[in-house]
This record gives sequence, structure tokens and C-alpha cells, in this order.
Amino acid sequence: MAHIIRGKVYLVGAGPGDPDLLTVKAHRLMRRAGVILHDDLVPAPILALAGPHAEIANVGKRCGRKGITQGEINARMIEAARRGLEVVRLKSGDPGVFGRLAEEVDALESAGVPFEIVPGVTAGAAAAASLGVSLTDRRRSSRVIIVSGHRAPKDAPDEKTDWKSLAREDATLVIYMPGKEFAGLKEELLAAGLDPAIPAVIVSHAATPRERHQSSTLGTLDTLPRMESPAVLLIGWALDRAGRRSKTGAASLAFEEAELILSSL
Ligand code: SAH
Repeated sequence: MAHIIRGKVYLVGAGPGDPDLLTVKAHRLMRRAGVILHDDLVPAPILALAGPHAEIANVGKRCGRKGITQGEINARMIEAARRGLEVVRLKSGDPGVFGRLAEEVDALESAGVPFEIVPGVTAGAAAAASLGVSLTDRRRSSRVIIVSGHRAPKDAPDEKTDWKSLAREDATLVIYMPGKEFAGLKEELLAAGLDPAIPAVIVSHAATPRERHQSSTLGTLDTLPRMESPAVLLIGWALDRAGRRSKTGAASLAFEEAELILSSL
């Protein structure tokens, strides 16, 4: 008889960093999971919501465990599910946006491990919300283009993002992993005919207490100060009132409560 698998892997979005932006489902799953495997960008206040018996491991590829490969992450998920455990694979934002979700799904499928995807609030959506703007606007921005500013060299050694093909005045460009140098991006978008007055805003640490943003225009994109990672760069007419609205009420309830608790200690 084939190997019976009772465990299951949940590929879960943790949102941009604010525990209040976790879905109720993500929270429920974290309370009952036997194993939680998370990325570097998932912050401590979210991990603190895990159940008391969960085994929690950082499988991030940046500062966490240096050298952990995608294959090793896949193997850990499969092994825990085969032990009959419920596994939460916790990724920042939405798991299906620049999260290597497709590779993990392929691995689970080939191993015959049941899985489910639980969406989360992606960084671009959180950044727009913090700025008080809509990513689409039926009057002028009928599309949202989600794109990565950088490609892993080993995956695509000679490929560069073709910015010209993405240059449209009726779109909001949401650039993940934008890097720190925007002169090339500016030139390509201007060469494609975009108006230099189009607003551009970079948002760093969206939806966390360290959130900062800087507003500019396409024509002055190269003068934007360097912002800390993680950051997203948004470009488009939909941004023209970005950050001008009052931020009252935008604070995270979870962070406010944590501060209250700390200050009463
Ligand atoms: N799955 C994630 C994206 C992972 S790729 C999502 O849906 O949001 C990592 C990139 O996401 C970062 O380099 C940055 O561009 C962006 N990012 C993640 N969290 C962010 C945050 N809190 N603020 C701004 N950008 C963020």
C-alpha cells in the first residue's frame, strides 16, 4: 500500500509585517501547526502568535540559515507532513508574489503531500494603503503591473527587466526588490514616452513601525534617497495624492497595544 500521509502543508501569507494584517485563517493555522517554517521577512510579533507547541524554524535565505537551499526547504516540509504534522510554510506578504511558491507546490505535488495556499496582504497593497491611495483608479489607472526590479542572476543570467514594455500611462507600476539605483529605470521609462511628471513613491518597511516613504516624480527618480530594505517602488498617476492624506487611524492596533503593555511594565 502507498505511504499514507496524514499531515498537510499550508503555504501561508503573513502579510507585510503588521500582525493586524494577518488573516484570521493564517492566525488559526499558526495556533495549531506542529511546525512553522518562515522566511526572514516575517517579524517576531507575528511569530509570537504561534501555538505553544509549534516547532518554529527560520528557513530564510538571507541572514537566517546561510546556505539553505530551496531543495532543503522542500525536504523539510515533506518530511514534517510525512510525520503526520500540520506544517505552516509562512511567507511574507502573499505567498504567490515573488515567494517561490510555484517551486514549493511542484515539490509537494510530486511527493504526494496535500497542501493548501492561504493568501496574504502583499507589500504593494499595504504600501498603497499606507499612502492613502488606490492602486487602480477608473479615471486613469486601469491596470496594476507587479514586477520585480531584480532577477536572481543564477536563474536568469542575461535577462534584464524590459521596462519599455511596461511603460504605460494608464498603469500603476509596483516594483518589488527595486534596488537602490533608479537612473536606468528612469531613462528607460522616459525613453518609452512616459511623462516626467508622473508621481513615484518608494515605501520602506510598509505596515511596520519603521515605515518610511519618499515621494518623487519619474523625472527626478534618480535623486530619491536610499531607503532601507524591504522597500517597494510605486510609479503612476494613481499616486498623485500619495502620503498627503492624514495618517490618523493608520496605526497598527497590535503595535499600539504592544507599546501600551511595554510602557506599563
Ligand atoms: N511575497 C511578498 C514579496 C516577497 S519578495 C509580498 O507579497 O509582499 C520581497 C520583497 O517584497 C522585498 O524586497 C520588498 O520589495 C517587498 N516587501 C516585502 N515586505 C515589505 C514591506 N513591509 N514593505 C515594503 N516592501 C516589502
